[in-house]
Amino acid sequence: MQLETDLLVIGTGIAGLSCAIYYAENHPESKITLISKRNISETNTRYAQGGIAVVTDFLKDSFSKHKTDTLNAGDGLCDPEVVDFVVKEGPQRLEELLSWGVAFDHNEKGFHLGKEGGHSASRIVHYKDRSGFQIQEGLISRMHALPNIELLEYHSLVDLITDHHLDQDHFGRCYGAYVININNHKVQRIAAKATVLSTGGAGQLYAHTTNPEGATGDGLGAAYRAKVTIKHLQFVQFHPTALHPKANGNTFLISEAVRGAGAQLKNIDGFTFMKNYDARGELASRDIVARAIDSELKKASSEWVWLDCTSISRKVMEDEFPTILDTCRSVGIDPLKDPIPVVPAAHYFCGGIAVDQFGRTDLDGLYAIGECSQTGLHGANRLASNSLLEALVFAKRSADQLSEEMAHIPYDASFLTSIPRWKDQGYVSTKKTSDLDLIKKQLQSIMSQYVGIVRSREGLNKAFQETQNLFQQINTIYNTKTLSLQLSTLRNMIAVAHLLIDQAQNFSQNKGTHYIADDE
Ligand SMILES: Cc1cc2nc3c(=O)[nH]c(=O)nc-3n(C[C@H](O)[C@H](O)[C@H](O)COP(=O)(O)OP(=O)(O)OC[C@H]3O[C@@H](n4cnc5c(N)ncnc54)[C@H](O)[C@@H]3O)c2cc1C
Repeated sequence: MQLETDLLVIGTGIAGLSCAIYYAENHPESKITLISKRNISETNTRYAQGGIAVVTDFLKDSFSKHKTDTLNAGDGLCDPEVVDFVVKEGPQRLEELLSWGVAFDHNEKGFHLGKEGGHSASRIVHYKDRSGFQIQEGLISRMHALPNIELLEYHSLVDLITDHHLDQDHFGRCYGAYVININNHKVQRIAAKATVLSTGGAGQLYAHTTNPEGATGDGLGAAYRAKVTIKHLQFVQFHPTALHPKANGNTFLISEAVRGAGAQLKNIDGFTFMKNYDARGELASRDIVARAIDSELKKASSEWVWLDCTSISRKVMEDEFPTILDTCRSVGIDPLKDPIPVVPAAHYFCGGIAVDQFGRTDLDGLYAIGECSQTGLHGANRLASNSLLEALVFAKRSADQLSEEMAHIPYDASFLTSIPRWKDQGYVSTKKTSDLDLIKKQLQSIMSQYVGIVRSREGLNKAFQETQNLFQQINTIYNTKTLSLQLSTLRNMIAVAHLLIDQAQNFSQNKGTHYIADDE
């Protein structure tokens, strides 16, 4: 089956939804097809707690302060031009979110602003500790109001369609994507004049991650196979404070905003330690806090450190952190009385598909926005709450650029009908998923053991070799069995892990989130 569209947007988090909305509003005559791997709401965006970093209080804050904080967190690897325009375009993007019906907390002075690690001012616009849910729901209802957006849930990207799939070279572009329909397991073509990847991050490469199950780096894997440039994957941000143990089978994040409100980190013996690592204490940037916790865990051979919130008033905890209170209580911890056991967990991919200032990749017709992209904003370490901001700013820039580009597509629509079908004839089907489950567990264990917060040259070499073996195993399965969602995503995870390790091995400086102990 083949479907044709003007713009294909892959992913329904903040990046994909807002890009589709911006473009659809400006081009009511165009057809936009939006796909998501699972239900539209199952995204990293939905789980964001803290909020969006935007300068709104110009008496106590300024663009210049936000820029300095972003550059400091990025440890010398941010692109200052990108930092400049992202910070300055923030207030306008926030206005648009509000106009689409997304609500944020207010007090008598205006927005109620949270403070997080690495920020020199309170500037996090939020909705309690459920900011992501609020944004996701608001964007979904705005999207449904636009008749020119077609939504296909449970459709998963398999590969981008490029000249490689055609009988002969044509225009050196991306022509859409092969997509597996999860309900009937058929691979179909979606031919598009332009394609936007907004598939999010890849926290699932690790055994402990704050990311939901779908964060498997599919956009990165597909871009890699299409020979699109991918940069800075070695910079994986670990969130310092995930609840230990898992709550209802998931790793639950305890927002940094709790530390902003006064919570303290204590080692297993009950002593504070952050001032020994950084003068900013609990509000140092995430790379520093995560490494400090890692070091305390190793020193005491303990499985967790404590996050003590007991100095925060009941009112603040109940008003601002209701989800954290409820979730901790569901596992028998009352943060009003008890310290919370926490550990760092893989959280955010600072690197990704390299794009220019308008979200364009180096393959014509292909854009990348949101967590799957590398824009230059985050450098070696993302400043807290800058990712939702980046996604919005680049969604708008891409939508504007697409408006220009669509007028100059080098072929007419009939060309898109010549895209060949997915080739799976002769492949045998497999119902056995245990092999794939095992390979996934092996991969997560390798990544957690050797490619975590503190790395070593020897560990990276081992990880490279072991992921190479997994790569061969998965390719053998891929080349003989019919495609399933599990097979397709695992293939991506292994490819992304292998590339990440390669980039980590070949990066010779300890910067931000990338730290090799022997290089110190
Ligand atoms: C627990 C948690 C808390 C966070 N808190 C904050 C915060 O307070 N502030 C902040 O700025 N950032 C925060 N972040 C980071 C931020 O939420 C993400 O970086 C951001 O939401 C990413 O948005 P996105 O649109 O790029 O991707 P996502 O929101 O992850 O959306 C990805 C989309 O791609 C789809 N997709 C993936 N693979 C495929 C495929 N193969 N085929 C089709 N579709 C596919 C998914 O179904 C989904 O729709 C947090 C992240 C987590 C996990």
